[in-house]
Amino acid sequence: MSDYRFSAQRGALIEEIRGRGVTDLELLRLFDLVPRHLFLPEGVWNRAYEDAPLPIGYGQTASQPSLQARSLQALSPGSGDRVLEIGTGSGFFTALLSRLSDRVFSVERIRELSLRARKALDGLEIRNVALLVGDGSIGWRKYAPFDVITVAAASPSVPAALVDQLAPGGRLLLPVGTREAQDMLLVTRDSEGELHEEVAIPDCTFVPLLGRYGWSDEEPGGRR
Ligand code: SAH
Repeated sequence: MSDYRFSAQRGALIEEIRGRGVTDLELLRLFDLVPRHLFLPEGVWNRAYEDAPLPIGYGQTASQPSLQARSLQALSPGSGDRVLEIGTGSGFFTALLSRLSDRVFSVERIRELSLRARKALDGLEIRNVALLVGDGSIGWRKYAPFDVITVAAASPSVPAALVDQLAPGGRLLLPVGTREAQDMLLVTRDSEGELHEEVAIPDCTFVPLLGRYGWSDEEPGGRR
């Protein structure tokens, strides 16, 4: 593997993420431990350590690293946690989550992306991740409830199915808004089962969540 080639770029990326307000050392170290380029098509390896979203094929993008770091800061996954991720995409965020939690369950609607993510995860000998191809807007009921739920695609509202699958003490982070612009909402369920909602990260742009609780595939402009 040629990871060493990018170590200087990785250092620069970590500085950039720190500059965006992420100070947790364990989180910052993760971006050194998990080589992002291995999750991306070779054609964009030269940009793999820019703090930018990058194309991964099929009209989808790998999210911006600093936004992922801020998301992890908001979700604070812990060693005993069971995590649900909607939108595996490249699998890079899946890998970060797998290093911070007990088990990760990740759903992706595009089979080819899921297969590619599996290869990259296997290459790094990451064994605590289960991948599913399907509509993640309905969650993954078989393994619910989850301590952490993270959605990497924009939704018109908070999918009820995901809230249902949130454990007491659980945290759900997802971009909610229009197709063009969203805020990242953090929904928490306290130990009494009460739900709380706040804007954790304002002003972001994600690809649309397509599915039962997201946008319909057929009407690119419209809401369901
Ligand atoms: N964290 C990923 C982000 C990928 S982009 C990364 O950094 O690579 C979001 C992904 O969500 C896309 O791959 C898209 O295909 C997927 N997606 C959109 N709607 C979905 C749904 N209903 N269920 C599962 N995946 C979905």
